[in-house]
Amino acid sequence: MSGRLAELTGPGVAKNLGPDSVVLLPVGAIEQHGPHLPMSVDAVIAEEVANALLGSVGNEVDLWLLPTLSFSKSDEHAWSPGTLWLAGDTLTRVLSDLARCVASTGARRFVFLNGHGGNSSLLVTACRNIRLEYGLLTFLVHPFVPPAAGGPSTEEELGFGIHGGLQETALFAHLRPDEVDMDQARRNVPEWMADNCSVRFGGPVQFGWTSRDFGPDGHIGDPTGATVELGRRLFVKVVDTLVDQIREIAKFEFPDAAPVASGI
Ligand SMILES: [Zn+2]
Repeated sequence: MSGRLAELTGPGVAKNLGPDSVVLLPVGAIEQHGPHLPMSVDAVIAEEVANALLGSVGNEVDLWLLPTLSFSKSDEHAWSPGTLWLAGDTLTRVLSDLARCVASTGARRFVFLNGHGGNSSLLVTACRNIRLEYGLLTFLVHPFVPPAAGGPSTEEELGFGIHGGLQETALFAHLRPDEVDMDQARRNVPEWMADNCSVRFGGPVQFGWTSRDFGPDGHIGDPTGATVELGRRLFVKVVDTLVDQIREIAKFEFPDAAPVASGI
């Protein structure tokens, strides 16, 4: 059986969750996404992808969704009022506390489905922290690998469509067509970085940045070509990919793991 943990009763959790359960936390964000998108984009995408996963593999994987964590590490957008962000150490603590609760259910697999690229490196660290603290098998999956972390972005955006660009805008338009203002969509691609071999998104040199470093609009990419149809195709592809990943996660074991201290 699969479902949403929050909809179970207390005894229902004990009855339904166990060693084969995969508990999945959608991690979103409430942060500025430029003039054409609402603050909720990452939270909506993470949650809708999680819902679709439950619909697709819920009959074969013992998958349990947690409520979406909508506040996360969005400090690269802190300059934009209304962005609701947690400091990195706060989020690390929140994830550890939630992992302790997950471990108490008897489930052994805990997955972060991350819709906000700014969380990625922290979530990698959290995966190891939680493995050490509670012995859980931990995993990080993305609807898209963020271009800033080497994931794909379109050629038209020079590989820099990392925030509110073509793909994210299209995906959101598929999910919430009435909430996108395409009249406000404009190209904001950092052409000045295009000739850099090293210091660039996805390049071998990491660099600190805020979205305001790329101009006052706040998005980075070119959303002007985004359509609902493109978003629909992307959504199908994203869900198909994640279905395969969740199937593999559900079977993943370390064959010779030493017992890990339980911090529960
Ligand atoms: Zn986003």
